[in-house]
Amino acid sequence: MSILFRVTTTVALCAAVAGCNREQPPAPAGTAPAAQSSGNAALPAPSVALSALPAIDPAAVLDTTKQLSANKFQGRAPGTVGEDLTVAYLQMRFQQLGLQPGNPDGTYIQKVPLVGITGTEAKPLTFAKGGQTLPMKWKDEVVAWSRHVAPAASVADSDVVFVGYGVEAPEYNWNDFKDVDVKGKTIVVLVNDPPVPDAANPSALDARTFGGKAMTYYGRWTYKFEQGARKGAAAILLVHETGPAGYPFGVVQGNLNEKFDLVAPDKNMGRASVEGWLTLDAAKKLFAMAGQDFDALKRQAISREFKPVPFGVKASMGIANTLRTIDSRNVVAKLEGSDPALKDEYVVYTAHWDHLGIGAPVNGDNVYNGALDNATGVATVLEIAKALKSVQPQPKRSILFLLVTAEEKGLLGSEYYSLNPLYPLAKTAAAINIDGINQWGATKDISVIGLGASDLDDYLRQAAQEQGRTITPDPEPEKGFYYRSDHFNFAKQGVPALDPDAGVEYIGKSPEWGRTKREEYTEKDYHAPSDQVKPDWDLSGAVQDAQLLMAVGYRVANADRLPEWKPGNEFKAKRDAMLRK
Ligand SMILES: [Zn+2]
Repeated sequence: MSILFRVTTTVALCAAVAGCNREQPPAPAGTAPAAQSSGNAALPAPSVALSALPAIDPAAVLDTTKQLSANKFQGRAPGTVGEDLTVAYLQMRFQQLGLQPGNPDGTYIQKVPLVGITGTEAKPLTFAKGGQTLPMKWKDEVVAWSRHVAPAASVADSDVVFVGYGVEAPEYNWNDFKDVDVKGKTIVVLVNDPPVPDAANPSALDARTFGGKAMTYYGRWTYKFEQGARKGAAAILLVHETGPAGYPFGVVQGNLNEKFDLVAPDKNMGRASVEGWLTLDAAKKLFAMAGQDFDALKRQAISREFKPVPFGVKASMGIANTLRTIDSRNVVAKLEGSDPALKDEYVVYTAHWDHLGIGAPVNGDNVYNGALDNATGVATVLEIAKALKSVQPQPKRSILFLLVTAEEKGLLGSEYYSLNPLYPLAKTAAAINIDGINQWGATKDISVIGLGASDLDDYLRQAAQEQGRTITPDPEPEKGFYYRSDHFNFAKQGVPALDPDAGVEYIGKSPEWGRTKREEYTEKDYHAPSDQVKPDWDLSGAVQDAQLLMAVGYRVANADRLPEWKPGNEFKAKRDAMLRK
């Protein structure tokens, strides 16, 4: 799990989220569920009712969770004995379930080569103009690194250009770079989406441009570095502002620890030599050196007419890298589709098996067991696999159960799969991710992060209605949670992807009760050695959620057509292009 839970109640959240639609009460029996988003008709009635699908056994989910989170598994860190034990256990479970090896090479394994990079400052970041120089203080004013798989990387006398939000988004007719060549230059970039005001109500954001309050992928810092690299920039420096970033600079300073990456064929030489962040105060000093006013340029950047601003300043910096490689593994099994014409198409369930391993002791315990995060998700996928293996009629399309490594190191196992898929992504119908489950009992609802992204939401809504439950949208869409778990790597490559989360309305409890439980977990157990199975766990709600997710995968596997992104979604163009080939 990348981050925590969302703590708002539905009522509060709908007040806070522009354009939020409260869920309708369940439709009376016999009525088709209403289509909630424009551009898509309601789904046809399912051929097998939810109540006729196999049940998910909470005791089995709990048992697997206990096993994987036992101290014996040493916190399941990639590249450790914990990985060896975990991979062997998962392979054994897939075999016992009678599932085929998911890799066409006849194994249950996809090898994932990782590199750990620890970067340090070899030569301070220094800006120069005329005879003036402006050195930046490492860690206090600048946090920078290089993803080059090389012992050193640097920029020297590189022209500094301010590129606003650094966004090129054809669906919003937006291009901050215009025709300015930034090859070899140092670009300075603002974080988040351009906050374009609504012309009719300037105190609110325009919902049709970059999703209004919700963050699109163009707002994520990872996008800024990828886009800068595509443009050939030598260095990319983001301006840190706590509000738009969503976290303080202290979080950014965590980037100075060892960072993990996939070993790309080009050893990441396609990335900029230097990536990093400046504090707001440091950025303002740079703008002043260039004779520019930060606030004025920031205002200019909230416009389609914005053009990059050359600063007449040169940047230089050197980074030294310490490298180590880790050979990790995704574990993957397949349930072959029953329809000869459709079995070459796939529905993928993902859950990350890794956690943090052995680390600093807390209260004398140094094993980070990762019970909720994410032994529960793995256990749930195994039970969904068991159910789908026995369901009648068998699914027409094939189902892949992909248990990925290194989520905690930056979604790397799923990224590796998305870049090296075992089956074509154009034939991958959907990805459904499970990262943590609800351990506190039945809820009236299930949450969906990025609700409204794709037709998968309609499948989930339909199944939820059969349970008399509703869907709650992400209470904090501005924080971009959709881009922070394993399903996202599928989305990024164009595959419609569903990111469900526990509901927030616990049956028979006050909203405060659920909120308190979540806050307790976040404070005490999240990424701590105490993330263990607790005596008060009640998986009655979790198995309802699992049943829904099983139904979604089953119905997508049997559907007449593949699910699609909703119109306007930032991943739709990639999917459409992929399917045209
Ligand atoms: Zn986690």
